[in-house]
Amino acid sequence: MAAYTYETHEYDVVVVGAGGAGLRATLGMAEQGLRTACVTKVFPTRSHTVAAQGGIAASLSNMGPDNWQWHMYDTVKGSDWLGDTDAMEYLTREAPKAVYELEHYGVPFSRTEEGKIYQRPFGGHTTEFGEGPAVQRTCAAADRTGHAILHTLYGQSLKNNAEFYIEYFAIDLIMSDDGVCQGVVCWKLDDGTMHIFNAKMVVLATGGYGRSYFSATSAHTCTGDGGGMVARQGLALQDMEFVQFHPTGIYGSGCLITEGARGEGGYLTNSEGERFMERYAPQYKDLAPRDYVSRSMTMEIREGRGVGAEGDHIHLNLSHLPPEALAERLPGISESAKIFAGVDVTKEPIPVLPTVHYNMGGIPTNYWGEVLNPTAENPTAVVPGLMAVGEAGCASVHGANRLGSNSLIDLVVFGRAAAIRAGKVVNPESASPVLNTASVDAAFDRFDGLRNAKGGVPTAELRLEMQKTMQADAAVFRTAKTLSEGVEKMTEIAAKLGDLQVSDRSLVWNSDLMETLELTNLMPNALATIVGAEAREESRGAHAHEDFPARNDEKWRVHTISRVTGNKVDLSYRPVITAPLTTEAEGGISLKKIAPKARTF
Ligand SMILES: Cc1cc2nc3c(=O)[nH]c(=O)nc-3n(C[C@H](O)[C@H](O)[C@H](O)COP(=O)(O)OP(=O)(O)OC[C@H]3O[C@@H](n4cnc5c(N)ncnc54)[C@H](O)[C@@H]3O)c2cc1C
Repeated sequence: MAAYTYETHEYDVVVVGAGGAGLRATLGMAEQGLRTACVTKVFPTRSHTVAAQGGIAASLSNMGPDNWQWHMYDTVKGSDWLGDTDAMEYLTREAPKAVYELEHYGVPFSRTEEGKIYQRPFGGHTTEFGEGPAVQRTCAAADRTGHAILHTLYGQSLKNNAEFYIEYFAIDLIMSDDGVCQGVVCWKLDDGTMHIFNAKMVVLATGGYGRSYFSATSAHTCTGDGGGMVARQGLALQDMEFVQFHPTGIYGSGCLITEGARGEGGYLTNSEGERFMERYAPQYKDLAPRDYVSRSMTMEIREGRGVGAEGDHIHLNLSHLPPEALAERLPGISESAKIFAGVDVTKEPIPVLPTVHYNMGGIPTNYWGEVLNPTAENPTAVVPGLMAVGEAGCASVHGANRLGSNSLIDLVVFGRAAAIRAGKVVNPESASPVLNTASVDAAFDRFDGLRNAKGGVPTAELRLEMQKTMQADAAVFRTAKTLSEGVEKMTEIAAKLGDLQVSDRSLVWNSDLMETLELTNLMPNALATIVGAEAREESRGAHAHEDFPARNDEKWRVHTISRVTGNKVDLSYRPVITAPLTTEAEGGISLKKIAPKARTF
């Protein structure tokens, strides 16, 4: 057994992650007087949420008629009927409240002439249950919305005496023998000390796993650590095959150009200068949802109408927009286009390509953020002491495809919901759980094994192999052939985790070891993604299967549940929740309106 000394910290709640979801949860917990620690591997305001540009969706009706039922309809249709109906109702109903709370906390939203929160159009957000024109629903602070939200929530959390443990890396969960989460084992990166957080509730808010692919808009820190920790406890991951490709990553660097660029009037063209989205989505054109636009772009490139010397990308045009509008509403992306593509957006188009952007799948939860351990008898069984929120979780409001600006609202609505729930289930007066020493020892043993790994494959090499395989074989379009080859390759690649080579044995700022721990988290996420994709013989949302081009509700309107052990993935399925929270008579949405139908735009 590995011998490490450690310091123990006792809290009511420990939140792992300080992005938008983690901070909103932390703030809500602390506001209620729960003793709350927030542990984060990067400084809170460096979390990936800081990069969110376009905005946050809520039916405030500041720019024209809107209501939560329309927002819910769009979310249901956006999810391609894979989202859970109760959670989607909760999200869209609570969204305005959550945005006004952000406003009162101090988020500096852009304003209309009358001083209301400014809202812009975003893909897939419509009026009249998809019959009317596009709606302006996305609340924005210029093109730096995530930045504004993150800084505000961090300040508010400090004001409410939440305690931050910054640059602490969470290694593994501590679980009792009967499956209750009791805390988390952490490594303090800057001095090499080890820490145990003993808590009555652990909230995983660790973000997505975009870095399992070669080209992604997400930060290098988006390594699916929460999913990795959960998988190692034999718990479930859900709907992992649904990976969102954002239509407009800058060609080459993958740096994001927000959908807000098209919201403000930008449009895509092919090598013939044609605005081809008019052909694919006659009603909403460039503002069709992301899966739709990404596939259309890929079709254009495949059919020989890509731009550039290699004909392998597409143009995004903004130069027809007034320079003042670009400077006021899209200053950040004007700068990114200059730096990463050498383009002056007032004069030239930006070269773009669909780029991995968001993980619809994650740790399954109910709409209170409580983690589920679905079994055949009880598909909504809860894991006591464990919650997951934000991109790490899967509530599931995004189903098979997330609408733009629906993630930031998911972070704050479910971060807040988790805090409300914890206020009910966590008793500040009760004693801290007695830690299961076997679980603690297992975490240190794993850590020590990796620290001293003397195999033949350096971490960076194996990571690249995984990223290239995922990029090639689990892409925008998938075929039975690419997927089965991909599963075979990924199974071999995942086995090589047992043959890793770590060259730095120290404990202080050991980035080699940290990246190795991250790779052990990326791998189960990636494996579950490609295995789930191979099994799903239909096309739905972001999962476009060329051999099964139609959606098959009869067989496949179910959530994929994957449990990963080593390089093996065990799949099962659980029903989609189709009942809303309120009936039509109670003011809820009409079930007829949200019944599955063809998804066209
Ligand atoms: C470039 C870009 C632009 C986007 N724009 C928009 C937008 O305009 N609108 C929208 O709705 N969505 C947008 N999205 C999506 C959205 O921003 C993300 O889904 C969301 O920010 C994720 O937030 P999060 O709180 O779940 O995680 P993150 O913000 O990724 O934070 C994760 C946190 O977990 C911590 N952490 C992770 N692992 C560990 C560990 N092992 N130990 C300790 N701490 C750990 C990190 O330190 C970090 O604090 C965008 C995404 C990207 C990449």
